[in-house]
Amino acid sequence: MIAYDLQCARGHAFEGWFEGQKAFEHQRRKKLIACPICNDTSVVVVPSTFGIKSGPPQSEGPEASNKPAEQMDLHKIMDFLEKHFENVGSQFAGEALKMHYGVSEKRNIRGTSTKTEEETLEKEGITFFKLPVPRLDS
Ligand SMILES: [Zn+2]
Repeated sequence: MIAYDLQCARGHAFEGWFEGQKAFEHQRRKKLIACPICNDTSVVVVPSTFGIKSGPPQSEGPEASNKPAEQMDLHKIMDFLEKHFENVGSQFAGEALKMHYGVSEKRNIRGTSTKTEEETLEKEGITFFKLPVPRLDS
C-alpha cells in the first residue's frame, strides 16, 4: 500500500491509500478519487513526502502495530521514525535497492526519493511507504 498526499483544485489536502502507483493513476484517470471536503475529482499529488522502508519484522511494542494509521498522531510517527529508522536522505532509493539485492544489510531506513526512483522501486517490486512531512510553515 502507498499513501499519497493529495490536494484538490480548491486546495483541500487529504490522504489517499492505494495498492500501488498504477492503481492510483487508474483511479485518478477514472475520476474515482474525490476530495472528501468538496467532492472535486481534479486531484494532484503533493510532492512533499518521503519514503520509509522496513527491514525484517521485529518485535515492536504492541503500540505501533494495532492502531489504524489515521489514529496515530503524526508527531508520534515522526518520533518513532527518528528512533527506529536510519535517515539516508536522498540515498533512499539506492539503499532500498541495495538491501533488496542483499548488498546492504536489511534495516529500517527513511529518506527522500524522486518520482523516477519510486518508479524504479515499484518495478523492482520493492514495497515502501510514503508519509507526509510536517510543514514547518503551517
Ligand atoms: Zn476539495
